[in-house]
Formats: sequence, structure tokens, C-alpha cells
Amino acid sequence: TSSIVWFRDDLRLADNPALRAAIDRGDPVIGLYVLDEESPGIRPLGGAARWWLHHSLASLGERLRERGSTLVLRRGPAERVVHETAKDAGASAVFWNRRYGGPEREVDTRIKASLREDGLDAQSFAGSLLHEPWEVKTGAGTHFSVFTPFWRACLALPSPRAPLPEPREVHGPGRAPASDSLDEWGLLPTKPDWAGGLRETWEPGEPAARHRLREFLSEDLGSYDRARDEPSAGATSLLSPRLRWGEISPYTVWHEAVEAGGGGRFLSELGWREFAWHTLFHFPDLATKNLRREFDAFPWPRLKPTLLRAWEHGRTGIPLVDAGMRELWHSGYMHNRVRMVAASFLIKNLLIDWRHGEEWFWDTLVDADAANNPFNWQWVAGSGADAAPYFRIFNPELQAKKFDPRGLYIDQWVPQDERGEPIVDLGETRKAALDAYEHVKRAS
Ligand code: FAD
Repeated sequence: TSSIVWFRDDLRLADNPALRAAIDRGDPVIGLYVLDEESPGIRPLGGAARWWLHHSLASLGERLRERGSTLVLRRGPAERVVHETAKDAGASAVFWNRRYGGPEREVDTRIKASLREDGLDAQSFAGSLLHEPWEVKTGAGTHFSVFTPFWRACLALPSPRAPLPEPREVHGPGRAPASDSLDEWGLLPTKPDWAGGLRETWEPGEPAARHRLREFLSEDLGSYDRARDEPSAGATSLLSPRLRWGEISPYTVWHEAVEAGGGGRFLSELGWREFAWHTLFHFPDLATKNLRREFDAFPWPRLKPTLLRAWEHGRTGIPLVDAGMRELWHSGYMHNRVRMVAASFLIKNLLIDWRHGEEWFWDTLVDADAANNPFNWQWVAGSGADAAPYFRIFNPELQAKKFDPRGLYIDQWVPQDERGEPIVDLGETRKAALDAYEHVKRAS
């Protein structure tokens, strides 16, 4: 017999409680990854995420093989595939780390129940968040809708457990069940191959994630508070895709940052990640529905596709916005300050529904995250949890002066001869946005 570890958003060996529990059980261990594009409600991955996943799985498979085990790849609805694989492997246990999205939880609950009915040991563990969403509650027993008290409550809980060490050996079975080949899955772009910039920028996989954490803590943490808002400073951790895919655990990041003298500011950014995930846990429709329902009354004008395209391709004529959108297209990443400015411009100057922007980010970000992405879009839109008030509209020119005063970031992404006229007038569109907002005020 054997134990299966079903990997999902936790593509790592270190601090992986499901893997640790499977090893401790004593039977041979088989890793499994299921590409599930069929279970109802599960959002298909965007293009940049698929690129990352391919490389991260390649790395995880290699690391499991080096330690004596294997990674079985299978495609299809998880409910069927997990059962089939368990049967093929003659497994008596299936372990995994929890997911917190609505449809994912439903799938996992059903699988756990049916595996148990079949007499298997099915168990789930906490590996992706510092605190389980049901453990952080207000005095009245409800969930938080404002960040500061949420984070205060998290900090008052016992501190996150210490990370588990990386297993040196993972004994696999003599013969592993059949696996798809990763290449067959077609996660990488072929024609056109748009991933050149991604390859230049990133190295997916657990070893690179650990390396980046150490580098950030020794070189950049000291200047994080001061420089984190400057897109040309390179002062942030670039851990977001690594956390998204679980190549590094938030427990590891937390403890190593604390040991490195880690600023509260950096830790509180991990707190925003927690807050976004807890919000998704309580509002599974975060990517499609306004959290504050009075925003349903917002009178979005009919979509003008040319404006949306101009934004997507970094051709709005607003240098900071265009720089951000080009950074995104090239590298699958955009600096946080610029994400806020680009999102605000789409919503409040082009008057385009935040959901269109969220979808573009979902497809193009390597860190596209089921909670962080819609949460932050709704934050900018004003419709979200503890959101920026709608009427506080970013002026992208002032933002550029403040956070990119020497124009280094803009110069890097938008050559002088590509700077056109703005496609909209910032002042007029700002006024139109504020007029439209009156409908929301009336509805609330
Ligand atoms: P650091 O500053 O080093 O922060 C450390 C970690 O904290 C990040 O890796 C991330 O996990 C977390 N974090 C930081 N800021 C936030 C935040 N505002 N909300 C939630 N978690 C945060 N982040 C994603 O991970 N995935 C997304 O899909 C995503 N979409 C966004 C969309 C918009 C419109 C905006 C404004 C922000 C979005 N963010 C998203 C949040 C933030 O921009 C990125 O997490 C950050 O830029 C990643 O860079 P870093 O790892 O260097 O961050």
C-alpha cells in the first residue's frame, strides 16, 4: 500500500504538513497533481499562471524523484481523478493541504467524504495561510471587514507555528501509477511564444523561492518601509508568485522575516494576503460580485473595447499607467503602487467595470491569485472590504511625480518616442466618475 500527497497550491517539500504526515505514516509516498479544468466553478488558470505552473511542476517532480519518490500528473475532474489514482496506486491514504476558495472547498469536502467511505484515510492540513479563516473572529463572533482590527486580532493569536524541515528522503513505491507527461498538458505558449519576458524575469520552483527569500531578507528588508512604494527601487520581495503557488510557505516567510529583524510593515503585507483570503472564504464570489452591494447601482457606460485594448497594451498616453501595463505584459508582474494606479485609471478615468481589469490581470499575472487579485481590484474600485473610498481618485501624473520622481521606471518601460497623447482628459473623466458615483451614494 501507499500514501498519496495531493499537491495543489503548495508546490514544495519544505514545511508541507500533508507531505510530512504522509512520510510519518511509513508507507511509500506518491505525489499527485491534478490539472482540473472541469470541476464546476473552478476558475481556469490564466496564461501566465499556466506558464509558471509548468515550470514549478517540473521542479517539484525532479525534487521528489531525487528523494526517491515521484510526481504523478493526471488531468480531469479532481473527484474522479483522485479516486482513480488512489485505486491504481493501491493507496490507503490521501493527504492534502487545504484550499479556501468556494468551489475548491466543495470539491475537497466531497472527495474527503467519498474516500473515507471507501475506507481510505483522507486528511487535510493547514499549509497556505498563517491562520485558518474560521479562527479569526471579532468579539461578536463574526468575521472582520476592516483590516486594522483584523490584523490586530491575528497578532493577538498564538504566533504561527514553526515551519517543518524539508524531508531529505521521500520513499516512493516500487512501481508508480501511470502519469501524463507535463509537455502533453500544453501549459506553455507555442505560437506565438509570448513567454520570453517571463523566462528572462523568473525562475519558478522551490529552490529559487528560498533563494529569493534569503536575498530579500539580507539585502532589501532594511529599506523596505522606505522604498517599497517606488517602482524603480526593487525594494520588495517578489515573493508573490512563490506564495501564490506555495513554493514557499507563509510560515517560512514569517519566521525568517521575524528572525531577520523583520519590519512590521513587511509582515503586515502578509497580513493583507491573509485578509484577502479570509474575505474570499466568506465571499466566494469575490471575483464577480461587488462586496458592497450598493455598487451594483454604479452606472457603467457601455464598454468601449478600444479603450480597454489601449489600457491592456499600455497605450493610454499616461506614462505611469503605460509603463505598468507594459511591465505586466513583458514580465507577468507589476509593482504594487503601479497596480493601484493602473487599476484606478481603468475604473475611474476610463469608466470601465473593475471586472474587466481583474480578468486581464488574471490572465497576465504570474502571481494571479484567486483572493488577492479580486480583493485588490475591489479595494481600488471602492466596492471591497476596507476599500479606498471611491471618491479618492489617484492622479497618475502626481503619483508618477511622487513615486517615480526621476522617471526611471517610466523610462525603463516606455521609450520617449512612444509617448502619445492621453486618450482621455484626466480632469473631465474624474468628474464623470464622481457624477456616476452619486448613483451608488443614493443606493446606499
Ligand atoms: P511585497 O511588498 O514584498 O509583499 C510581500 C507579500 O505580501 C506579497 O508577495 C504578497 O503575497 C503579499 N501582499 C503584498 N501586498 C498585498 C496586497 N495589497 N494584497 C494582498 N497581498 C499582498 N497580489 C497577488 O499576490 N496576486 C494578485 O493577483 C494580485 N493582484 C493585485 C491587483 C491589484 C489591482 C492590486 C492593486 C494589487 C494586487 N496584488 C496581488 C497585491 C500586490 O500588488 C502584490 O502582492 C505585490 O505587488 C507583490 O509583490 P511583492 O511580492 O514584491 O510584494
